[in-house]
Amino acid sequence: MDLEIGMGITDRNYRTNNLVSQGRNISIIGYTGGSQALSSKERTALQWAVANYNRLSGVSISFTLTFGTDYQNKDMVVYRGSGGGAGGSAGFPSGGLPNKYVQIYGLNNYDTNVIEHVITHEIGHSVGFRHTDWETRQSCGQNSNEGTAGVGAIAIPGTSSGYNPNSIMVACFSCGENGEFDNDDIIGLQYMY
Ligand SMILES: [Zn+2]
Repeated sequence: MDLEIGMGITDRNYRTNNLVSQGRNISIIGYTGGSQALSSKERTALQWAVANYNRLSGVSISFTLTFGTDYQNKDMVVYRGSGGGAGGSAGFPSGGLPNKYVQIYGLNNYDTNVIEHVITHEIGHSVGFRHTDWETRQSCGQNSNEGTAGVGAIAIPGTSSGYNPNSIMVACFSCGENGEFDNDDIIGLQYMY
């Protein structure tokens, strides 16, 4: 069946129309104030997530991580939000800048690697990744299409066709995540940046 070719039903890594400016060093702060403070475990997971990006070769953006409450002058802030269930949320880049606000919630009883996974995923959105399975949300056991959502969904050349559950950018996560990029995620970041 070569109907898959060009029909939009294959799963590759996908990017938004807008990206962060090439070469930008992104200031990112882990919030430590009051009820929205990251826990000690969540701060460790944020350090691991930032390291996932900073260790990549062939990627022009990088991150400088601090902790504190002085978030106004930072490009991104990761904090504990109040969503139901367990997960995170973030937006997409605009004006050459990453999405600023990344919240995580309900994760403190999970393994640090799982929290690393969620933060790495949300930073991924913030620099322009769509969900790898945006057309199906298969990772969530669903068959629903997120559409282009006003931000675009451009397939990234060189990433695998077919469902890749190991991409850190699939829509849903499990309690067994290792927090690391799949090779397709790295190809995607190298392509975008
Ligand atoms: Zn997501």
